[in-house]
Amino acid sequence: MPALPPHQTDGPNHDVPSGGSKDGVLRIAVLGSTGSIGTSTLDVIAASSGRLVPHLLAAHSRVGPLLEQAWQMRPRWLVVTDPVAAAEIGSGSLPDGTSLAIGPDALDDLLADPMVDRVVSAIVGAAGLRSTWAAIEAGKTIALANKETLVMAGPLVMRRAAETGAQIIPVDSEHSAIHQALACGRPCEVRRIVLTASGGPFRTRSRESLASVTPAEALRHPTWSMGPKITIDSATMMNKALEIIEARWLFGMTADKLAVVVHPQSIVHSLVEFVDGAVIAQLSPPDMRLPIQYALFFPERCDGPAKRLDFDATMRLDFEPPDVDRFPALRLGLEAAARGGTAGVVLNAANEEAVRGFLDGGLRFTDIAEIVERLLNEHPFQEEPMLDDIRRLDSWVRQEVGKWVCV
Ligand code: NAD
Ligand code: MG
Repeated sequence: MPALPPHQTDGPNHDVPSGGSKDGVLRIAVLGSTGSIGTSTLDVIAASSGRLVPHLLAAHSRVGPLLEQAWQMRPRWLVVTDPVAAAEIGSGSLPDGTSLAIGPDALDDLLADPMVDRVVSAIVGAAGLRSTWAAIEAGKTIALANKETLVMAGPLVMRRAAETGAQIIPVDSEHSAIHQALACGRPCEVRRIVLTASGGPFRTRSRESLASVTPAEALRHPTWSMGPKITIDSATMMNKALEIIEARWLFGMTADKLAVVVHPQSIVHSLVEFVDGAVIAQLSPPDMRLPIQYALFFPERCDGPAKRLDFDATMRLDFEPPDVDRFPALRLGLEAAARGGTAGVVLNAANEEAVRGFLDGGLRFTDIAEIVERLLNEHPFQEEPMLDDIRRLDSWVRQEVGKWVCV
């Protein structure tokens, strides 16, 4: 279940963070450690004065950067999920005290180790579901960056987490802001949740010009520095669609209580409006190290490496309604959140493959939302899919998208 903000729990013990160890030290497993969220997580761990210990670092195939991290951070375990890439690691290339494990099964097993206090789920895309599920089965506290887990399997994930006692604390900056704002009232007092969106690099571009956008242009995000997939998702605003569905399941809010506002400065990370009209927001510069640290230490707060707002300088905060005509992904996100069932897995898989097709030059930018919409309408909808149904549908959708990609 999502770890509730402090006042909504039965009274958390602030001496020992939930999902924590008795000695006050938290041993962290970082899944996707070589990525954008992964490296920011290592910054937070390095700045924690020993309160956070890197227990396990896992990445897929970029063995060089992973080995560098191993020498710098000295984790107990290094996991390479791609066995072909793992073969590049020669004997003697690991520091003393670090062991190598290979493949996704080994990763799942290591996540169940009682030594692991918290798991940072920061693998990109649908691949992140498997290890997040393993952490849920093990009843761990999870700092969840991999939004795809909830988009694909939200109801199943939340139900299983409630059964195993796993806690899910969001890392996505919008959901972290909402998690913090929700502490100001009771769930029944929430009127709506408003997710902020930067609007991406094409916020002011005309609808006609969007068809000719190049991958290089789409990869230039105005406020955030992120991995390539999520950067394209920000340009199409499909990232906001994924986040609407993520919020739907994480906070148990129906789609009619979820809204989006464009806020180009990316300083207000989201807002919660309560029934009395009060709107509570969380503000900070765009720096993922803050939501990562929040999730790793929750319910504690402490000093950290994230940038801070400077109130001695003039600062503008703008808000504007989103343009659903130019960014149809937003409408698709709201529809998928309302529909539930298999809509999320289809939206996610179709988008992942279409983004790949766009980056490889086989699809136009505007094809992405169009393909997602077609598959949402045409797929065999199921109200309550199980994990196997989700996996099957995920591969079917990917094959279907392949038919549109020009090679
Ligand atoms: P990234 O592309 O920078 O890094 C991805 C990581 O996942 C790498 O370490 C890679 O080795 C690993 N990986 C890739 N495929 C894998 C596989 N098949 N099996 C195991 N590991 C695999 O991605 P990112 O931008 O850090 O994003 C990670 C997740 O966090 C995504 O789900 C994204 O939506 C979410 N997120 C990212 C940001 C951000 O600022 N980057 C913000 C919010 C949420
Ligand atoms: Mg986000």
